[in-house]
Amino acid sequence: MDDMEPSLKIRTKAVHILITNACNLACGGCNQLVGHFTKKKIFHVPVAEVRAHIERAIAIAKEDWHQPWFPPVHRNLSIYGGEPTVHPDWPEILHMLYVEFPDWPFVVLTNGRSFKGKKLPASGHARFDYIKRREDIIAHDKNIFWRIELKQDDDIFVPTLIAPIDVIGDPDPVHYYDMARKNCGFYDKCETLIYNNKGYFCINAAPMDWLFHDGANGWELDGAKHPFKRTNEEIEAQAKLFCHRCYFSINRNPVIDVIEELKHIPTQPIGSKSFVSETNIDYVKPGSGQLVTFDKEPLPDLKTLEEALETAIQAKAGIRS
Ligand code: SF4
Ligand code: SF4
Repeated sequence: MDDMEPSLKIRTKAVHILITNACNLACGGCNQLVGHFTKKKIFHVPVAEVRAHIERAIAIAKEDWHQPWFPPVHRNLSIYGGEPTVHPDWPEILHMLYVEFPDWPFVVLTNGRSFKGKKLPASGHARFDYIKRREDIIAHDKNIFWRIELKQDDDIFVPTLIAPIDVIGDPDPVHYYDMARKNCGFYDKCETLIYNNKGYFCINAAPMDWLFHDGANGWELDGAKHPFKRTNEEIEAQAKLFCHRCYFSINRNPVIDVIEELKHIPTQPIGSKSFVSETNIDYVKPGSGQLVTFDKEPLPDLKTLEEALETAIQAKAGIRS
């Protein structure tokens, strides 16, 4: 495996560590599928496991960060959610980042909803208390960078759970993986995720596996093995379970621009009910999504995205609440 060319293994360009799938918002179209999990599927990773995942990510970093294909901008350890700051042990986790891993740079990805206040105290819990009260701080303190993506009322989200297979109709899941390789920004960025003790080639595949398959298809995080050194076949085996369910494989712009009837569909503001199509609807928490249906023509000989879009132009969209 070590002799493998980078092009023959996943080009892990960032590793994210998810510590909770809970959030203090439920944005329409959230790519982590917040709002769609039943209560028993919402989890907070125990502190000891967060520590173990960070240690694993550090091992990956030592191996990968100096490779020519690893972007300098991603040479950090990313703490991901949901919303990390709603983890019940968040103060302890934050303290751990500062005290146990002071030489490693972390990014905490947050929606900023818990941030209010004005000045950044010098250290420790006072700093956390301060950051928690800020509305729009972008703070870089010691080894921690707070990447705040404020969610505004007029933010528009991609309708993650409109399954391309319901729009286009080609029954072959590999077709949608091929589309993702051409169109999907997440695929292009190769951002991998440690999610609920498993590894995923893509940050959107992980919550989908949890929602659709109870997390059965993640890569095991066993021993010292690099969890993201994978062959193209291994990646395809995981991807073809999810790309046909994930709107990102279709690439929103051509659809928004081209299909007049669908112009209203991808506009899912914060607080709106997510659009969910037939393939995905039975898996989401009852009432958490708005069913969207398409009159599609099966096209077994579908070969290109252009053909797919041309066909989708003909599709009529109907929305049932
Ligand atoms: S703030 Fe982020 S994680 Fe939370 S629901 Fe919105 S998009 Fe999802
Ligand atoms: S289309 Fe596939 S690669 Fe892209 S975000 Fe969705 S699951 Fe990931």
